[in-house]
Amino acid sequence: MRYAAPTTTSEAANLLAAESGEAFILAGGTDLLVRMKAMLVEPELVVDVKRISEMRTIQTTDDGGFRIGAAVPGVEVGEHEALRSAWPGIVEAVQLIGSDQIQGRCTIVGNVCNASPAADTTPALIAADAQVEIVGPKGRRTLPVAEVATGPGQTSLAKGELVEAILLPPRPEHSGDAYLRFTPRTEMDIAVVGAGVSMTLKDGVISTARVALGAVAPTALAVEPAAAAIIGSKLDDGALDALIAACRAACKPIDDKRGTIEYRTEVAGVLAKRAALIAFERAGGTR
Ligand SMILES: Cc1cc2nc3c(=O)[nH]c(=O)nc-3n(C[C@H](O)[C@H](O)[C@H](O)COP(=O)(O)OP(=O)(O)OC[C@H]3O[C@@H](n4cnc5c(N)ncnc54)[C@H](O)[C@@H]3O)c2cc1C
Repeated sequence: MRYAAPTTTSEAANLLAAESGEAFILAGGTDLLVRMKAMLVEPELVVDVKRISEMRTIQTTDDGGFRIGAAVPGVEVGEHEALRSAWPGIVEAVQLIGSDQIQGRCTIVGNVCNASPAADTTPALIAADAQVEIVGPKGRRTLPVAEVATGPGQTSLAKGELVEAILLPPRPEHSGDAYLRFTPRTEMDIAVVGAGVSMTLKDGVISTARVALGAVAPTALAVEPAAAAIIGSKLDDGALDALIAACRAACKPIDDKRGTIEYRTEVAGVLAKRAALIAFERAGGTR
């Protein structure tokens, strides 16, 4: 196995493109190194991105959004005050990953590109309408986070492509988001269900909303009918019931030791409702 630590994203992309064997990006390594140790993957080439300066910072963008570099560890996301205040749901998703030790290493982009259906940040990012900025042999492109994972452990990234940053849109006034997950244990476990909700209010009424679920299908889902159910409401009980029904209808979960299909489907509605209530309150709404 060869190890490379380039200092620019295009150099990293060229290394990935030129490799004929299996090649992996190494960010925090909290997924990759575990899989290598278990011999689930045996890369010919590992490309460490932590020396790439464009990937190491959190910046505000010209339009008032945020750009989070792909090598920024979870702990720095949690320490960023402006990000915490604009996108508390994304920050709480990051802070659910593993433990302090894991958060000292792990990245949001590693979480998304590992493509686990139970990844905690993915539903929060989909609810936020986040994009990834991709660099590859054909140049630069952006892609909605919802289109990165195509199935468990699979992504839509082409050979030679890697993610340089996550892009979060500008946040209008009276906006709020929230992410909740349910796990059998309170710590160090993976989601049975995760639910992310983001919304903006106009005159106290929900004017835009996005709802996303994790761990209930092969990839995290944007549940558009659930968002449609609450837009135009003040989150009254009827709107919440319609959101719950839409979330349950979208679920296509597996049956495993963490939860049955029926259980995951039930919990998805409950968590989405609770996340919507928190996001509404954060946006300044009153029911
Ligand atoms: C003890 C423990 C507890 C955990 N708890 C949780 C949890 O509660 N919730 C949760 O969601 N996850 C959890 N995880 C999984 C893991 O910590 C997260 O998925 C983490 O965010 C991965 O980030 P990383 O930077 O360490 O990724 P890495 O391991 O470096 O990479 C993961 C994958 O993404 C690819 N990749 C990384 N960066 C890029 C890039 N820039 N472009 C393209 N591909 C890239 C890698 O090649 C690899 O395939 C846990 C892991 C451990 C070991």
